[in-house]
Amino acid sequence: MTQPYGFTIRNTYRDLPKLFYADSLPMRFVDPSYTFVNRALADELRLDIKALRTERGCRFLIGETGHDEARPLAMAYAGHQYGQFTVLGDGRAHLRLEHDTSEGLLDIHLKGSGKTPFSRGFDGRATLRSALLEYLYSEALCALGVPTTRSLAIITTGDEIKRIGPTAAAVLVRVAKSHLRVGTFEYAAHRGDLDALKALADFAIERHDADLSELPGRYLTWYKRIIARQAALIAQWQAIGFVHGVMNTDNTAISGESIDYGPCAFIDNYDLNAVYSSIDAHGRYAYGNQPYIGSWNLAKLGEAILPLIDADPKAARRKTHEALVDFGPQFEHYYRDHMGKKLGFASIKDRDDNLIQTLLGLMETYDADYTATFTALTTQRDAGESLFDSSEYASWKTRWQARLHEENTPFVRMQAHNPAIIPRNQVVKSALDKAAHDGDFGDYMGLLEAVRHPFDTAAPRAYRTVPKNKEPFVTYCGT
Ligand code: AMP
Ligand code: MG
Repeated sequence: MTQPYGFTIRNTYRDLPKLFYADSLPMRFVDPSYTFVNRALADELRLDIKALRTERGCRFLIGETGHDEARPLAMAYAGHQYGQFTVLGDGRAHLRLEHDTSEGLLDIHLKGSGKTPFSRGFDGRATLRSALLEYLYSEALCALGVPTTRSLAIITTGDEIKRIGPTAAAVLVRVAKSHLRVGTFEYAAHRGDLDALKALADFAIERHDADLSELPGRYLTWYKRIIARQAALIAQWQAIGFVHGVMNTDNTAISGESIDYGPCAFIDNYDLNAVYSSIDAHGRYAYGNQPYIGSWNLAKLGEAILPLIDADPKAARRKTHEALVDFGPQFEHYYRDHMGKKLGFASIKDRDDNLIQTLLGLMETYDADYTATFTALTTQRDAGESLFDSSEYASWKTRWQARLHEENTPFVRMQAHNPAIIPRNQVVKSALDKAAHDGDFGDYMGLLEAVRHPFDTAAPRAYRTVPKNKEPFVTYCGT
């Protein structure tokens, strides 16, 4: 294969049975042009950034040329959305190409690239605002060390689409280890084609867990790997205070990357019930529910792959159940480790749990800002939250400081684990409004740059301060 723009093009998804995708070409846009190209990511992927940045490069990336080699497609999948099973598929997205790198294959995927056979009557498009939002949060999570899909570029399409009113459209060019979702396996199970299900699982193993490919009984071991990755991922979300907002099984990647940023947010005050999405009326995807939902989603995966686990359905159920039971302890393991580091501990001890839980409880009681509380502890300037004036805090601090005597350089560790900067909800909203509605990208660019360096304690104060206005914040899917 040739290497246009530095891409080493592969087409492995087409090796899967045909039911897993539909041939579909991205639409032809009037006047596509870049809003951003992610230079750092392009460099990481060893792309020819200079060539990619040209109009020809843009037209290549958005899928106007190069079909013979890359042959874009739309993936089929299903999913449980708010608990309800639905057959979905890429209704507004295309797998543009797969890029072969020394670290494995990566999907180069277009979101907002026009109708496909899975569009279900919708327009196949995405708003510029939603693309900017995904770009921002994926960069923020990546900088915080959280596994995530990345954003390579945003391309504006030169036309408007209808949402509440006319709005600017865009295509997000996303990079992912794969787009294999829990819902992809649910789709295979729903089709009732065991050979196809097996082909999909083998494809996934080859892609993400190739060391298991020859192992007898590999599907159970593989399932355990996926469980471990989700446990690790969600533990990180909890530790940084990230609320995904729409943890449907179609938005759960088996690679363990965060995917499909929509109505997401970072918590301000520590609140397990925090919900930001306008459509999550019952709080299914509340901050504190995320580990349970993660486990629920993995149960759905387990059900989908039962016939691969054991030919005897009873034995298969028992084995997947036993594997899934381990999600809780694994989540706890990762979560405690992160929380311990946030308090300066190289490795957490059993008696540290009480310190963590007491602090979180105090945050809840005193409506303390989650990120700012840890920043204050890190910088040893414990002021600005009423929590710090309480006698409960004073006695907690005495215990914590006694524990810190056992550690070398705990504050250095804390600085590396407690972000000074997170994308603050109100700041994000205002920057997105200005960029998407007024075409003024100044605030957005500043914020993007800031969230790329979350541990930079010298960043402009504007990005480090806690918003005064803590009125309830609502996010909208706004697709
Ligand atoms: P998402 O909210 O992006 O996770 O999408 C959920 C499902 O709805 C996926 O199958 C999408 O492809 C589909 N979808 C969302 N927005 C659109 C749209 N504007 N046109 C077609 N399909 C869409
Ligand atoms: Mg989705």
